[in-house]
Amino acid sequence: MADLNPIYNSTLTCPVCEKKIEVSKVRSRFVKLISQDEDFCPYYETYNPVLYEAWVCKYCGYAAHSTVFAEAGKNDSRQVLEKIKPKWTSRDFTGERDINKALEAFKIVLYNLQVRRAPFSEFGKICLRIAWLYRYNGEWVNEYKYMKHSYDYYKKAYSREYLSKGKLDEYTLTYILGELARRLELYNEALQWFGKLITASANPEEKLKIQPRLIELTKDQIHITREKMKAKDKKSAAINE
Ligand SMILES: [Zn+2]
Repeated sequence: MADLNPIYNSTLTCPVCEKKIEVSKVRSRFVKLISQDEDFCPYYETYNPVLYEAWVCKYCGYAAHSTVFAEAGKNDSRQVLEKIKPKWTSRDFTGERDINKALEAFKIVLYNLQVRRAPFSEFGKICLRIAWLYRYNGEWVNEYKYMKHSYDYYKKAYSREYLSKGKLDEYTLTYILGELARRLELYNEALQWFGKLITASANPEEKLKIQPRLIELTKDQIHITREKMKAKDKKSAAINE
């Protein structure tokens, strides 16, 4: 059998400028998940598909997460053509990506979201991906910065957006908010988010809407958060002595 390149290109039409473009993907047989952090940051044996989730049109500069790339509406297109395309210098994002190349593509997506005034949940998702990329790189200051952005956007999404089924459901979002707060050492806020989920799961009707794994994860994370709080209290007590 001939050597199959793990990365391949697929052709699609840019929904903004309507030109044919190519995007790179990882062949599914090369995608082997090893583990996942509690905020769902995935680790793969070799090729990491997260690096390829930011799609960029080289002609007009339109960029979006692969799952919503095709969904650009009329207003989105107008904004991109008026505000991004005139300043855009063509860049190629096809082929194998390293973390820095992926970061570059994700930052272009983030800029697109700002120009298009995209929903807060999209900002939250892209900022979380950027935080993961920095985590892979061991750049924890930047990781923290983007986790905080993600947390703030997701909080706005939680209070102001109608969360439709299929994309990000309310309870997954509640869990992510709790876990991001925990990682940002906002322990009281973390316990409030996790508590909301546990309270909801006590209601049989609501419990049906929550993935069982999420409830288990939440219980574990409540335990870890309380331990961290105790450790933090001890530390500050020692400093004040
Ligand atoms: Zn385009």
